[in-house]
Amino acid sequence: MNRDGLLAAALATQERAYAPYSQFQVGAAVETETGEIFTGCNVENASYGLTICAERVAVCLAVAAGHRHFVAIAVATAGGASPCGACRQFLAEFADRLPVLIVNAETGNIVAETDLADLLPGRFQLLDGDA
Ligand SMILES: [Zn+2]
Repeated sequence: MNRDGLLAAALATQERAYAPYSQFQVGAAVETETGEIFTGCNVENASYGLTICAERVAVCLAVAAGHRHFVAIAVATAGGASPCGACRQFLAEFADRLPVLIVNAETGNIVAETDLADLLPGRFQLLDGDA
């Protein structure tokens, strides 16, 4: 896991978040098994339900570039917030276990390290094995 790379990428991307409604900016960086890092930020919309989270943007960009296997994700927010339930399920489509680094963007430090399997036990699953 490229801990420093994930940390820096999540923090840099958090600053680009489009969050005029919540003012809650989120940056995410996901590392592929080939060592590439894809980033995402939350993008809000006047029609609130259309808002997409940083984690899902990062994974979508990685998948669009041909990646489906991930080794870790970092998420940066003020105070260090954990991924929402929707993102946990979204990530679980591609990984049974996935280290999740929680970053406090105010300090620039990793404040927690957990795993997707612990964040989302009993995920919804239709496919067995590799997608
Ligand atoms: Zn989310």
